[in-house]
Amino acid sequence: MTQEQARNYMNVQFAALSENESFARVVVGAFVSRLDPTLDELNDLKTVVSEAVTNCIIHGYDSDPSGIVYISAVIEGETVHLVIEDKGKGIDDLELAQQPLYTSKPELERSGMGFTIMENFMDEFEVVSEPGQGTSIRMKKTIVSKKALYN
Ligand code: ATP
Ligand code: MG
Repeated sequence: MTQEQARNYMNVQFAALSENESFARVVVGAFVSRLDPTLDELNDLKTVVSEAVTNCIIHGYDSDPSGIVYISAVIEGETVHLVIEDKGKGIDDLELAQQPLYTSKPELERSGMGFTIMENFMDEFEVVSEPGQGTSIRMKKTIVSKKALYN
């Protein structure tokens, strides 16, 4: 769905600095809060944002702070569409990168679980990447409103 078609959307972009990871979590959390998510749903979404943003910073840009991380979110009914992007180095082997426990940076004590977490916490998850151009993570999750749980 394009943003023009959506009734509600947001875009943010920020410098690829690890201290902006918490900003990203909070901004997405605040945007989604109107769907009245449960604490678990909200925490899952924030974790996914952290994982994706961290990947943009440390992998996409190799921690070069002149890089820019882009987040866009669309709310359509009870569903949130989330796109988290960098214009960094891209991923050569997408299949390998998405395998649980695979990391290209074991020296940084990464565990290789970021993509697995995103895939498990979201209803839909897709990685689009072009070597030398960047990486885009597109995800979707339908929020089971707290109101629905209590009624
Ligand atoms: P962890 O997330 O557990 O700290 P990790 O970041 O290495 O470890 P994943 O998030 O699953 O694990 O990513 C797997 C691999 O995919 C990374 O090691 C990296 O090689 C590649 N990758 C992920 N995101 C990007 C990105 N935005 N740009 C370039 N490469 C990426
Ligand atoms: Mg990761």
